[in-house]
Amino acid sequence: MITIGSTVLGYPRIGPKRELKRAVEQYWAGKIDESALREVARQLRESTWTELRDAGLDTIPGNTFSFYDQVLDTAELFGVIPQRFHDLGLSPLDTYFAAARGRGDAVALELTKWFDTNYHYLVPELGPDTAFRPAGDKPIAEFHEARELGITTRPVLLGPVTFLLLAKPTAAGFEPLALLDRLLDVYTELLTRLRAEGVDWVQLDEPAFAADRTPAELSALRRAYQVLGGLSGRPKVLVTGYYGDLGPALEVLATSPVDALAVDLVSAPDSQIAAIPALRDKTLVAGVVDGRNVWRTDLHAALAKAASLLGSAGHVAVSTSSTLLHVPYDLDAETGLDADVRARLAFARQKVREVVLLGQALRNGANGEFADEAARSRPTPRRDDHVRARVASLRPEHRVRAPYDERADAQRDRLKLPQLATTTIGSFPQTGDIRRARAELRAGALDQAGYDQRMRDEIDRVIALQTDIGLDVLVHGEPERNDMVQYFAEHLDGFASTEFGWVQSYGSRCVRPPIIHGDVSRPAPITVGWSAYAQSLTSKPVKGMLTGPVTILAWSFVRDDQPLADTAAQVALALRDEIRDLEAAGIRIVQVDEPALRELLPLRAQDQQSYLDWSVAAFRLATSGAAPATQIHTHLCYSEFGEVIDAIDGLDADVTTIEAARSKMEVLEDLRSAGFSRGVGPGVYDIHSPRVPSANEVAVLLVEAVRAVPGDRLWVNPDCGLKTRGYAEVEPALRNLVAATLRVRATL
Ligand code: GLN
Ligand code: ZN
Repeated sequence: MITIGSTVLGYPRIGPKRELKRAVEQYWAGKIDESALREVARQLRESTWTELRDAGLDTIPGNTFSFYDQVLDTAELFGVIPQRFHDLGLSPLDTYFAAARGRGDAVALELTKWFDTNYHYLVPELGPDTAFRPAGDKPIAEFHEARELGITTRPVLLGPVTFLLLAKPTAAGFEPLALLDRLLDVYTELLTRLRAEGVDWVQLDEPAFAADRTPAELSALRRAYQVLGGLSGRPKVLVTGYYGDLGPALEVLATSPVDALAVDLVSAPDSQIAAIPALRDKTLVAGVVDGRNVWRTDLHAALAKAASLLGSAGHVAVSTSSTLLHVPYDLDAETGLDADVRARLAFARQKVREVVLLGQALRNGANGEFADEAARSRPTPRRDDHVRARVASLRPEHRVRAPYDERADAQRDRLKLPQLATTTIGSFPQTGDIRRARAELRAGALDQAGYDQRMRDEIDRVIALQTDIGLDVLVHGEPERNDMVQYFAEHLDGFASTEFGWVQSYGSRCVRPPIIHGDVSRPAPITVGWSAYAQSLTSKPVKGMLTGPVTILAWSFVRDDQPLADTAAQVALALRDEIRDLEAAGIRIVQVDEPALRELLPLRAQDQQSYLDWSVAAFRLATSGAAPATQIHTHLCYSEFGEVIDAIDGLDADVTTIEAARSKMEVLEDLRSAGFSRGVGPGVYDIHSPRVPSANEVAVLLVEAVRAVPGDRLWVNPDCGLKTRGYAEVEPALRNLVAATLRVRATL
């Protein structure tokens, strides 16, 4: 009988040196052909499989590769790539990429956040007429490809219920879940075929059940696995539900005729496994190695956890808590990390070794290698007693500003801004010149003084342009920032940056999240020099520009040895000091960006309030040291508000800017119904499109906005920063924005 043994639930696929990103982008640019791209993909798969086998895993996941996204792969596999992409008459691969990126009039599938991770998936479009059909053989082809290398894989598929729950209906009121039976038919066909091709095990991922689910959704889960589990002539089925506690879905799955269940014992260490007798007939895949963070596992604790389950399940295997998609490939590739920090880290490759050691220890008792690895020194995080004492002494008044009306009066007197004040969100285009300067500085071809001069020249240009366009509140343009989180990480103590720690964000886009490894403090002012320089060039107010504490946490790997709230408070204190220094340097407006406020929201409702409490508190701690006459802005980007709308009010920012151009000012109604009564800047220029909006279009949006918000509280700005755009679009768009404002302002 084939058992699972030690395994991992998924693996990174972009390539240790981002080989897939490069190849895909070259293919898009027409520089390589499809067969060259496929060869890069094949090599990456081969090296992943051989690496996992050589590491000593008992079973290896297959079908974890993707040219873009595993949800899009699933849509392709079952023939539900929308017709508009087929109508383009392209090859299958180009049809797939067209669905991912859009082409001509065929607008791309919507891209949205994958659960509470920083990965983004493409949203399938399903309607009452959707007909699934077997339309591809990717899992089968990759199974054979591995077989030819002598490696048996366990194809990983997105589970049917999660697939439906992630989809968006093409018709109002339609519930994709209504398609379950039709979808189960094609899964049935696929599973049967996989078995016929020699597949022993398949893995079906149902992460949607780590979030709150309705009884109807739970019964869909029950139905799905009654049907799939009940098939004769199928491979053995492992169902996973990672990123959290399966809650009531655990019992549903345990009582359905599947062979194995994977549980995430890192996010949900207290899963009630022992309480479910039905698990006695199943294999329990114990996710005891954190699949989402970068810390080494406490092997003794993990072994004890896995061993404690031995009596509760028929068979216990060891695994990562989730796919390893969200961690970098290999710690050994890093050369610049501090030794004490490195000694605490494990990336994907190191985590695989931990799983192997745990699997051996569970089976045969801890061997010497296990003991050595478990005993290897684990330095304690760097402590900063000063910052700890400051956090400990915080009192409620450290999070409260003067009442809004008082602040608004003081700011009006000081800033003397017109109604419908115009501004931008912070960054101006990151030109080739700027990128070159940064590359030359890194390569040593440009010294710091030379680099600083190039940045100041850029600020000169950006200020002159904004003055000429006639904007009311200016920005310095953020030329010195590679990335809005990385930049702060590089200037704060307690953060480390990696060289190759790339993680897929979506498609070919990767990010390199910093690692928060110790107490956070600010050794010196970070942004003050740039902002003060920009302010010295103009009498108009220049906004100081900071990234907020929640976003810094959301886009970093965070400490797991203390509550997130504590880390957030440390970051907030550093920002609070930065704001004080900006004020002292003559800056009158400071924007604290929190585009990721919504991203860390826990999947389960019962955990959400406490998250909102500490995240809002961190923002307020960062900003409430500002004088009443200093205007605090926040930019929330493309946040979907929903359950966080009250939190936005709780931030107590004087001005909040948000996306609104695509959603046609919908957000104003949301804010109004939530009783929001401070300044607001709904974006009137969709910067994610190269299109230049006309002054008329902008004016139409503004006319709508002035109906909802009085002119002295309404701001006019683009949806987001301009760093990804070119000046050829940005300049006319901002001119149109100002022209429209003048027109509407004259009517007030
Ligand atoms: N100030 C940042 C910028 O303009 C905000 C970016 C963001 O919201 N993601 O680039
Ligand atoms: Zn934004």
